[in-house]
Amino acid sequence: MNTHQLRYVKNLVVGCGLSGMVVAERIASQLGEPVLIIDKRAHIGGNIYDYKENGITIHQYGPHAFHTNIKHVWDYIQQFSDFYSFQLRVSAWIDGQAVPVPFNFNSMERLFPQFLAEKIQQKLITRFGYDVKVPILELRKENDADLAFLADFVYKNVFEGYTLKQWGLKPEEIDPTVTARVPIFVGRDDRYFQDKYQGIPLHGYTTMAEKMLEHPLIDVRLNTAWSQVKDTISYERLFYTGSIDEFFGYSEGVLPYRSLFFKKQELNHPYEQPTANLNYPCNYEWTRVCEPKYFLDEQTDHTVLMREYPQAFSLGKNEPYYPIANPDNNALYEKYLLKAKKLASVYFLGRLGDYKYYNMDQCIDRALCLFTQLLQQ
Ligand SMILES: Cc1cc2nc3c(=O)[nH]c(=O)nc-3n(C[C@H](O)[C@H](O)[C@H](O)COP(=O)(O)OP(=O)(O)OC[C@H]3O[C@@H](n4cnc5c(N)ncnc54)[C@H](O)[C@@H]3O)c2cc1C
Repeated sequence: MNTHQLRYVKNLVVGCGLSGMVVAERIASQLGEPVLIIDKRAHIGGNIYDYKENGITIHQYGPHAFHTNIKHVWDYIQQFSDFYSFQLRVSAWIDGQAVPVPFNFNSMERLFPQFLAEKIQQKLITRFGYDVKVPILELRKENDADLAFLADFVYKNVFEGYTLKQWGLKPEEIDPTVTARVPIFVGRDDRYFQDKYQGIPLHGYTTMAEKMLEHPLIDVRLNTAWSQVKDTISYERLFYTGSIDEFFGYSEGVLPYRSLFFKKQELNHPYEQPTANLNYPCNYEWTRVCEPKYFLDEQTDHTVLMREYPQAFSLGKNEPYYPIANPDNNALYEKYLLKAKKLASVYFLGRLGDYKYYNMDQCIDRALCLFTQLLQQ
């Protein structure tokens, strides 16, 4: 890349993931101002990047199902793609069979004797109501022998092993906002999410991203890291969606993340799994296997599996995927946030910039809010 051409840009966005793309799209389309987006990767879209291979759309950085209850986010994203109305179902491999998770009435009937399943179901309805999710850590506090049995069973077979593999930490060592993500479901709804709006971009996330970047005032430069250009470029506003600790030269220490390694496997039969995602809480080194053809119901004679191996994050060696929320790490992030607040015209956002475990809709919402704040300045 020729850095001579990059002396001044009005708006610079570092990172061409969802967060960066939303900000860039808003500035170009609503303010009529030029935006340059740089990304160190060779493609647009950040972690939502996908590609089609032999009739199957592969999510390169792990399975991505869009779901939200935020209407303005849903309205916004639909400008760039029609959505196939996919609702994610997930199974877990427990006692040698695939059962629905979140653990629900169907899972109980598959794994427990009938009389026990029925007794527990009745107690759950009486205590919590029907069609509700109960976080596993909350269920564990209940003072009832049958509910305690259920809590321990789910804790051991669904939660503990998965959490240990996924995070490399005991459940108690992780912030409850993360552990609360693993609930049981009082009812028979097998969907992983109950959000009002759910789906997958009809032609894939990358095609949707191309549409978001289509505005003539948006210029994208790939294979370009912030470190390569930061000394040769000036800007009126900088939107930084890379790691906040990297921006400040790791002056306070490296923010911890969990990383992942994905292994692809092709099989010569149409389907392998009962659901798009199959979790392995108790067996093997991988946490889950995704069968991506489910997302767009792609009809092929073969199938592809993406096996997901969690790893420790090591700076410069692998990718930071999941911020690890706990009091120490949050305190370290706060130190960077203090520094960030002293910078005029530099805005941090996204899962790396905010050091937050965001779903896609939260990234969009955050970027749209930031844009609204800009308008008010
Ligand atoms: C395995 C996995 C599965 C997920 N599944 C779901 C799901 O099913 N549903 C859901 O709603 N959400 C899901 N998410 C979350 C979703 O991926 C994120 O919310 C969203 O993609 C984050 O967008 P972002 O732009 O903030 O970050 P990113 O997508 O990470 O984009 C940041 C971009 O910045 C670039 N960058 C970083 N540093 C620099 C630098 N120094 N110089 C230049 N470029 C830089 C990176 O290359 C990257 O392209 C999942 C996340 C993971 C990890």
